[in-house]
Amino acid sequence: MIPRTTLGALVFIVALTSQGFAQNGDDPRFQTPPLPTPNSYRTGAGLPGADYWQQRVDYQIRATLDPAATRVSGSETITYTNNSPDSLSYLWIQLDQNLFALGSRGAQAFPEEGRFGGAGPGGGYEISAVTSGGAPLDHRINDTLMRVDLASPVAPGGTTTLSIDWSFQVPVSGADRMGRDGNLYLLAQWYPRLAVYDDVNGWNTMPYLGQGEFYLEYGDFDVELTVPATYFVGATGSLLNPEEVLTATQRERLVLAREGGEVVNVVTESEFTDITAIRPRTDGSLTWRFRAENVRDFAWGASPRFAWDATSHGNTLIHSLYRPSARAWREVAQMSRHSIAFYSEYLGEYPYPTATAIEGPVFGMEYPMVIFVAPEADRETLFDIIDHEWGHMWFPMIVGTDERRYAWMDEGFDTFINQLSKQEYFPESEPELLNVAQYATAIRTYEEQPMGIAPDAYDPRTPALGIAAYTKPAVMLNALRGLVGADPFDAALKRYFEVWSYKHPQPADFFRLIEDEVGMELGWFWHNWIYTTGTSDVAILGVDQNRNSESWTVVVSVDQRGDLLMPAVVVATTVDGASDTVTIPVDAFYGTDRAAATLTLPDRAERITVNGGPDWGDINPQNNTWER
Ligand SMILES: [Zn+2]
Repeated sequence: MIPRTTLGALVFIVALTSQGFAQNGDDPRFQTPPLPTPNSYRTGAGLPGADYWQQRVDYQIRATLDPAATRVSGSETITYTNNSPDSLSYLWIQLDQNLFALGSRGAQAFPEEGRFGGAGPGGGYEISAVTSGGAPLDHRINDTLMRVDLASPVAPGGTTTLSIDWSFQVPVSGADRMGRDGNLYLLAQWYPRLAVYDDVNGWNTMPYLGQGEFYLEYGDFDVELTVPATYFVGATGSLLNPEEVLTATQRERLVLAREGGEVVNVVTESEFTDITAIRPRTDGSLTWRFRAENVRDFAWGASPRFAWDATSHGNTLIHSLYRPSARAWREVAQMSRHSIAFYSEYLGEYPYPTATAIEGPVFGMEYPMVIFVAPEADRETLFDIIDHEWGHMWFPMIVGTDERRYAWMDEGFDTFINQLSKQEYFPESEPELLNVAQYATAIRTYEEQPMGIAPDAYDPRTPALGIAAYTKPAVMLNALRGLVGADPFDAALKRYFEVWSYKHPQPADFFRLIEDEVGMELGWFWHNWIYTTGTSDVAILGVDQNRNSESWTVVVSVDQRGDLLMPAVVVATTVDGASDTVTIPVDAFYGTDRAAATLTLPDRAERITVNGGPDWGDINPQNNTWER
């Protein structure tokens, strides 16, 4: 069979041979992922439906850090609003600290010495009370989850409150997402958190094993953190009592940072020679009060020796807290301002009043309004981490995806936007090329696993998670941007961000929204990239040039050598720089690996490329160029 497609007057495309598939209908590269039937919660256009609902969870937390005991203890009151159409007789609570109890499910599933370990003697929560209105509630703890049976069901539209008292020993390394180093504490997954109840999976009870991240409801937080008086604290939200925990000088410097937009040193290294001058008092403890609205989590860091820089973007006060020994961190306030400004422009304005980068013993981790980043010395590497973690404010802090199941919708989207941001801060860099090269090189070294599986299913002894969750989705989104055009793609991604802000999109919602926005059926694309480990390798097979009376006709035949189907973008250029471009659509490859493009030039072609450059995710650049 020889399919024939016409693109405009000058161009026709011929599939040369039909091979490899018994019938066209058998071509597995044209499979599409099975999507759920649209309903009133999620529409066929990928939008939240007329009846879309989502639970709301508000927290009031009082906690104390005891550095002598390396413990945090607290009590919290949770107000749970049931916006679902279902009556709920029990709630599921996430007890992430239990990952660090000896013998936890995660500790057994993954090597203790691995990045996501951290279990040790004394690890895990001590839960001392679970009550409602003063009365104890039946509860059952299963590893990192706790089921709490309510005294009476919470009806649709109703609310219920419960209180939990707890404490835990802070692990030194908490799955590289929290931990401590000397007297510096980075605290996350630190309070019992409601599991998500949604229209797709009901209660989301996948355990915290280490590799998979989080899925959380939105709400408001009122948090009181009591720490030794010598400590500085950075946290999610706005500081409500600066007059109690900061000196007059520090408060004045913060006003300057907010108004001027320049980087202001709020606390400097040299000021630590007289601690009494930089703390309101130095004996006993002080309580820092924070409030955060419409966030899915709360994190904080504390240390008696933080240098503190501040600047601003719009109404957002940007803080950088770091040990003075972390020299490269002197640029972090400026880097942070760049990232927040860039993503605000590309996707939508950063909505929160603060943004705080905290240096410490975590390589790089994101929470609403807060990032934890290592004392990296290399400037460009430090930027990469800082910028990546700030990118997470858009995905998944604002677009609240299910990270426990779909890392690519979180890490992958972020890695994609990072390369755009980096090009502005480091104009000489070529991060897209870097991603394709990394992906192409890495997948030759281990058995690749597809993007579309849950993070905990990746073999921790291989780079599988890093490639499938970060690098490959960034390569995929570049390829998609190339396929649909940069402007339509950017507009569609922005729309996805807008309509799913503070909500819980599923993969099908993203697929449908993008297809509706750009007007293309992309089932084959999602299938190939997300649900297979196929790779794209489009090669130039042959070139035939013929002179006509006024022009040259150049026929370029190409070969799809990988299992991952992509269109073939053929560009031919003359010695004088005249060029013609023809895209062979995927349809031309139905049931065949080979097709040809006919181009017209004023002179013979000197140079021809197919899927050259970083936009097409081609893993083998060796066969993409022909030169006369
Ligand atoms: Zn990340």
